[in-house]
Formats: sequence, structure tokens, C-alpha cells
Amino acid sequence: MPSGPQVVARDQHCISRKDISDNALKVLYRLKNAGFEAYLVGGGVRDLLLGGHPKDFDIATNAHPEEVKELFRNSRLIGRRFRLVHVLYGREMIEVATFRAAPQDATHTQHQQSETGQLLKDNVYGNLNEDALRRDFTINALYYSIEDFSVRDFANGLNDLKARQIQLIGDPESRYREDPVRMLRALRFAAKLRFEIAPETAAPIYKLGDLLDHIPSARLFDESQKIFTSGHSEACWKLLQSYGLSAHLFPLIAAQASKGSSIYSEHLIRQAMCNTDERIQEGKHIAPSFLFAVLLWHPVNDKMKAFQNEGLPQVPALHKAAQAVLEQQTRIISIPRRFTTAMREMWELQFKLGRRHGTRAERLISHPRFRAAYDFLLLREQSGEIQPGLGEWWTQYQTADEEARKKLVSELSPNQPGAKKRRRPRKKPTKPQD
Ligand code: ATP
Ligand code: MG
Repeated sequence: MPSGPQVVARDQHCISRKDISDNALKVLYRLKNAGFEAYLVGGGVRDLLLGGHPKDFDIATNAHPEEVKELFRNSRLIGRRFRLVHVLYGREMIEVATFRAAPQDATHTQHQQSETGQLLKDNVYGNLNEDALRRDFTINALYYSIEDFSVRDFANGLNDLKARQIQLIGDPESRYREDPVRMLRALRFAAKLRFEIAPETAAPIYKLGDLLDHIPSARLFDESQKIFTSGHSEACWKLLQSYGLSAHLFPLIAAQASKGSSIYSEHLIRQAMCNTDERIQEGKHIAPSFLFAVLLWHPVNDKMKAFQNEGLPQVPALHKAAQAVLEQQTRIISIPRRFTTAMREMWELQFKLGRRHGTRAERLISHPRFRAAYDFLLLREQSGEIQPGLGEWWTQYQTADEEARKKLVSELSPNQPGAKKRRRPRKKPTKPQD
């Protein structure tokens, strides 16, 4: 590890202040004018150096959280593991973190480690150099100075950016043990940036997946959201599978591998992720619960069938299966209730979409979850799980006028589920023979 940073002067790199959000600049300047050091760091610097548009800006400073809070009325202190300040400007949030030291460098003993080496608290303040070395990857430890507009590289991050590789700072295995979420972050960045993971950084992941079992479910929810909304969820899912981490996040899907439905499940998940990524690239809205519903569809469906085999009718079997699957999954990833409600509705609609007689189709189409359930249905057909046909019917129905809609419904076969059963004429009771 080099002792001092490599300093790249303003005219030797491509970061210009016009690429940095006005609010991030405001925070940097106010900290500087109050006599503190202030740097842009992390994804903001990394993505700008790669010519991309950062999705958010993080700032590092030697001001302590309370001092930062004093400077910004529109700020709040957050975090238990480490205390941070969020400065809020409308919908934009700038995260300000005080320089911290890696635990082994710290002279203080405020940090605590669990039996597996996991850091429970990581709130030891440090200087800029120490702050750089406690960060996860070399490409995330680049600092843009508001003092002289240079970029400071403490961990050879610029070289790794050029080589397009993800490399942990320090000894990979102990850095993963300190915080196993770094394994997920490595895969997410590799997928997002289309970088390789350096061999020494990649190797321990295969054997350390179990460490994810100790991560609080709320943190795994945050991390899975980052993956699903990254615009690169499909590539990331592939990596999660090949490194054996998806089985720790979604054991119910892994348990399906031996079942007949697994091939459909795999297709469904891949296609849903592909579509989601495309929508994100096009700046379109995505329902955040959609991918969770897709991921857990086959486990729910298989369980539902098992309950049906035990004699339960379809609807209660579905409810019971959904309950069981969600209970198991939310112990690992705490999917919030507003998501699980939407997921249950999407699952239930998969069966309701087949029932279109009378005024049912008209009522279904105005269901708030109709659009998501329809997309879901199309994906199930594409995956080969069910025969195509119903999706196309709904495609036509949505664009049809009133007359055409009536016609579509009237043309449905009377044998379709939900059709009114024609009453058989009652048999005349036969006269008892004397
Ligand atoms: P993006 O915001 O695009 O997901 P990012 O690199 O900015 O990527 P953040 O989660 O915003 O990621 O974190 C900001 C910075 O904080 C990171 O670049 C890294 O330097 C540091 N960091 C975040 N999480 C960890 C961690 N688990 N261990 C060590 N450093 C971390
Ligand atoms: Mg960031």
C-alpha cells in the first residue's frame, strides 16, 4: 500500500464542477468555509471518472457529525453502526460522513467485533488517509478535493479503474469477515460497471457465503433493493448465483433446484430482471415489489399445490402458501409490509385473470395491481410455465373499445373458469311405485 496519496491535479482528470450536483457543491463549500476539510468520495468520484452520471454524492469531512449538523439546518443525524449526517434538499440527499479509521489502525477501542470477525460498531474517527483505507474497494477510495480540485488516490484506485477491476483494500477475507455485505457490493459493482473482480477479491466469496446469514434482515433488504433497482439486476443475479450467494438470500429458490418448476423459475426471473433493467435504463417507473413477487412465485406456487393435494381449495391454499413463504423469506430479507401486500395481490391476480366472464374483466382491469399482474402473466407465458393465450387476450382487451370488449367476453368459451354454469333442468321426481 503506498504511504501517501497519488495526487492528480485538476487539469489531469476529467471531473468538472459542472458535473457535480449544486447541492453537493453547496455542502462542500460550506464545510470548507467553516474551516473543515471536505471531499467528494465514493461512487460520485468513481462514476464521474468513468464518464458516467453518479446517482448520488457522498462527502467525507473531518467535521464531526454534530458539527456538520450545526452547519446545516436541513440535516439530520442517522446511523447506529456509524453516525452520518444526511443533508436534505428537496428530494436530493447528500450524505456526509466523518473520516473514520479502520479498526486495526485505531488507537481507540470503540469498535467491537463479533465471533465471526464482523464489525458491530465502526465509529472510530480518523484522518483522511485512514478514512481511505477503511473503505471497501480501491475504486471507492478516490477523493475529489474542493480545496484544489485534485483527485487523491490512496489505494491505487485509479489503476484499478483503468484496469476495470474490483479490488478490496487490505486482506480480502478479513475485510469480508468485518462486513460480509461487501461480498454483495463486490458483485453489484462488477455487474453495474462491467468490471472484473480481481482474483484475490473474488476467491474468498465462494467459501464465505454463510456469513450473510448473520446480517440483519433490514440491511439485506436495503442491499437487495440496490441490486434490483441498479439497472443491472440480471447481470448481478447471475453473479450471485455463480458465487453461491443467491442461495443465502433466497434459500427457497435454491431449494427448488431439484424440482420440475426450477427451469421455468429461472427463465421467469431472468426475463423479469431483463425487463426491469430495460425499464430503468429508459427512465420508466418500476414497481419495487415486482421482482420480489417474481422471485418467490414458484416457491409459493409449489407450496400452494402441495396444500391443494392435502385437500385445501385453491384460494385458501394460495393464501396459506403465500403466508408460509413470506414468513420464511422476511426472516432473511425484511421486505416491508406494503411490498408483501402488493406481492400477495399480484399472485392472487394470476388466478383471477383467467376469470373474465360477465363484468369480471372490466372490474379486473381497474384493479390497482392489474398492470403489474398482467406483465407478470406475460412473463409466465414466455417462461413456458403456462400455455400462451390469456396474455394476448388481455393485451387485446386493454386496447379495445367498449363494443370490442363485450365481443371479446362474449366469445369466451362457456367452459372457461368463472363462466356461469347453465342450470340443468331438474329431473322430475319419479313417482314411487306402489
Ligand atoms: P453507489 O452509490 O453507486 O451504489 P457507492 O460506492 O457510492 O455506490 P455507497 O453505498 O453510496 O456506495 O457508499 C459510499 C462509499 O462509502 C463507498 O464508495 C465506499 O467508499 C464506502 N462504503 C460503503 N459501504 C461500505 C462498506 N460496507 N465497507 C466499507 N466502505 C463502504
Ligand atoms: Mg453512493
